[in-house]
Parts: sequence; C-alpha cells; structure tokens
Amino acid sequence: MNLFNDDTICAISTASGMGAIAVIRLSGNTSHQIALRIFKRRGKSLDLQNIEPYRAYYGEIMYFVDGKEIISNDTASQNENILDDVLITFFKSPHSYTGEDAVEIACHGSIYIQQQVLTLLIRCGARLAEPGEFTMRAFAHKKFDLIQAEAVADLIASRSREAHDLAVSQMRGGFSNKIQELRKQLIDFVALIELELDFSEEDVEFADREKFYKLLKELKEEIKTLIDTFNTGNVIKNGIPVAIIGKPNVGKSTLLNALLNEERAIVSDIPGTTRDSIEDTYVIKGHTFRFIDTAGLRGSSDIIENLGIERTYQKIKEASVILYVCDVTQFDINELDEFRDYIKSPDKHFILIANKVDMLEQLPSVFRDLSQLDTIYISAKRKENIHLINNDLVEQAEKMHNEQAVIVCNIRHHQALSNTYNDLEAVEKGMSEGIPTDLLTTDLRSALFHLGSITGEITTEDVLGSIFGNFCIGK
Ligand code: GDP
Repeated sequence: MNLFNDDTICAISTASGMGAIAVIRLSGNTSHQIALRIFKRRGKSLDLQNIEPYRAYYGEIMYFVDGKEIISNDTASQNENILDDVLITFFKSPHSYTGEDAVEIACHGSIYIQQQVLTLLIRCGARLAEPGEFTMRAFAHKKFDLIQAEAVADLIASRSREAHDLAVSQMRGGFSNKIQELRKQLIDFVALIELELDFSEEDVEFADREKFYKLLKELKEEIKTLIDTFNTGNVIKNGIPVAIIGKPNVGKSTLLNALLNEERAIVSDIPGTTRDSIEDTYVIKGHTFRFIDTAGLRGSSDIIENLGIERTYQKIKEASVILYVCDVTQFDINELDEFRDYIKSPDKHFILIANKVDMLEQLPSVFRDLSQLDTIYISAKRKENIHLINNDLVEQAEKMHNEQAVIVCNIRHHQALSNTYNDLEAVEKGMSEGIPTDLLTTDLRSALFHLGSITGEITTEDVLGSIFGNFCIGK
C-alpha cells in the first residue's frame, strides 16, 4: 500500500449487504469534482465554487450529468437517468476524517444502488480504496498516531461497554501521551550519552553515572508496568476468562447452561455473533466473560477424569476467575487441597460454588468451615441464586477495569514495549560492565526505535501495511 499517493479513493463505508441506507465515502483532491459529476441537486444548481462544506445536500445521483454520458443512451428520459435520491456532504481539507477533501454520499441501501454509485465514481476517476486506506490517510496527514488508528479498528470491533471504553480512551490519546513522555525521557538520556561521546578525547565523564542508572531504572519500571497491563487489556478486549471446574456430575454443565440462558437474549442481539460464540461468551452489565474451553465441558462433563488433572490446571492457568463447583451433598473439603495455591493467588478470583442446595434440608456442617472462602450456594438445576454469581463476576470485572489508568491491549504495542525493555536492560548491563559509551548507544537507539514504532513516529511501510490491511474496506 502506498502511503503517499494522491489518488482519489472511494468505498462503501457501511456494513456489506442490504440496509435501509448505505454511506459511500470518497477522499482525495478531486473528490468534490468527481462527486459533482454524478450528483444533481434538487432545485438549485451546485458547482465547485458554491459548495458549502459540512452541509447535507439533497439531490439525485444521475447516470450521466450535463451531457457527459456515463452509461445511459441519449434518448432516455430524465427519469431513467436517475439512479437514486441521496444526501451528499462535502468535507474540506484539513477538516475531514482523512484530512483531505472528502465526500460522503448517503444513498438507499440496496446492493445494486451501492454498486452502481461505486461504479460511477470509478468511471469518473476515483479508484476503489484498499482496506484501511481512509484511516491510513488520516494517519499520513497526522490526524492521529498509530495507536489511535488502531483504536479505531478496536472501536468498530468492540462488543461490550468495557472494550468500547478502552478503545475510546486510546483514541483520546492517553496511551499515546504516555509513550511520548517515555520517549522524551529516553531522548534526553541519549543526548547526555552523546554529549559525553563528543568530549571523549578529554576523558571527562560528565555525566554522573548515578543519574544515568536512576533514569534507566525509572524508565524500565514504567515500561514494565505498561507491559504488565497487557493481560488486563486483553481481558477487556476479549472477555474475562472464566474456568468452571469440579468433579464429575457436580453440575458444571447445568451451571454453564443456566448462566448462558440468562443472558442469551442480550448476547444474541449482537449482530454477527455466531452460535458458538454466543455459547462461549457472555455479557453482563457491559462486561464480557469468556468461558474457557466450554466445548469440552459440554461434550464431556467429566473434566477431571476424562481430560486429566493436567488439563484442569491448564484451564486454571488461563483463567482470571475460577468457579469451583461442588455437590453440597457429597462435598469433602480435602478435594480443595490441590487448589490451595489458586485460592490464595492474588491474580485469580476463586469462587466456590456449592451446587444442588435443593437436595438439602439444611447446610452440612462442613460449610461452616468455609466461611473464609468466597462461597455461593446455588441450585443450577432450578436456576436459583445464579444472579449471585453474576453479581460477583461483575464486581471482579469492575475491579480489574478500575485498577489501571493506561492499559496496553494490542499485541504489537506489547511486543514493542518488550523489545524496548530488553534494549534498556542491555544498556544497563553494558554500563555495569563498563562497556565503552559509544557501544551503549546502539542499544539505546534500538530502544528509541521500538518505542517510536508504537505511535508510528518511526515505522516502515511493511508495518503500516500489516496494520491497515486488517481494517475493512471503507474504513
Ligand atoms: P457435570 O458433570 O459437572 O457437568 O454435571 P452435570 O451438569 O452434567 O450434572 C450432573 C447431574 O446433576 C445431572 O443429572 C443434573 O441434572 C444434576 N444437577 C445439576 N445441578 C443440579 C442441582 O442444582 N440440583 C439437583 N438436584 N441436581 C442437579
């Protein structure tokens, strides 16, 4: 993809398929001229000179305009040359999404009309946009940095309030500012080192090494903190991973069904969700939860025996929340022994689900010993107290969300931060081993490169191609 071409590009920007209306977008130097060739305003005429930007004009898309034939034959009546009634809006550079002159045409959403409008625009000199090309142009015109461009993709893909909030906060630039700040500190650091190099003949060591170490240490710590938020970021984006574990026949599948049934109506409202993902993810009060390996759970309810303890541990490892289900009529506190570490782990929320309470006259005495554990008494079969589990899950989600101000949620950013961290570690090691200053600058430059690649200050066309190539056409 060529970042700096000045073609005028066009694409359908609304979801593919039929709809009540569709929006076709056009961007580039000649976008206004091209649009005017196929648009005829109702009543008054409209030409390049008297266009008022940011105003929606009502009119018609014509197969040909002002005697310039496009498709129709000369004998056709005026009506036959009308493709559709539309609203058209003109945007003036630099105040548009891409930063260029741009046009948006809102037409009726028939697939035929959408295709015809595109065809007409292409015949008049526009070319079909590549995936993400509008957003790429916005980036090229410095409307936003790469983090913000990637957040646009996340915003479009967001399915829960949390994912949406996270994308919006990244678009607003909180994370970008943080990266800029770190980069500035690093540049100051490099400047000091290079100053020392300039005077190397005189054998002065200006720079007080203590200060270097301190700065390096602070930078490393800040970057590490950001790297550590990746888990939370991922969780927000993809759903909090929840594992349902327990012995065979305690009611794990019944519980999963009870949980999913409760929310199925809400989840299935989301267009485009497949049946599989409806069953595996679950949205409560704007928070998404993802049941780990629920297909296995449904296929065989006997996790511990059929899949082996290893598999259970694997599920636990991936989970942020563990729902340990037991049958109250048969519970033995010793069965929790192997999970002791997880019960106390600060990274995991362990909830004991005491199921089948409908079978009891009164709670067995063993449960009194469990008051220190987070225990919820339910009857999965009768769907009793399921809401208590929901409340607990939402509370966990809110806690996770509130913990960090700046969150890393993109694997590319995570990778670049990790590379920066490794470079800084190499600098620190080099300094402690007394490596000559000029050799340290290689690692420092590399750290600067990796940090700059996050916002797109330093970047290659390959990287841009892979980022924007993942967008849909029209974005
Ligand atoms: P899993 O092996 O842990 O997935 O257990 P299942 O969900 O397949 O349930 C095993 C059996 O326990 C089934 O016959 C369920 O109907 C029954 N069961 C599940 N939950 C309850 C409950 O709350 N009360 C009663 N009485 N039976 C239940």
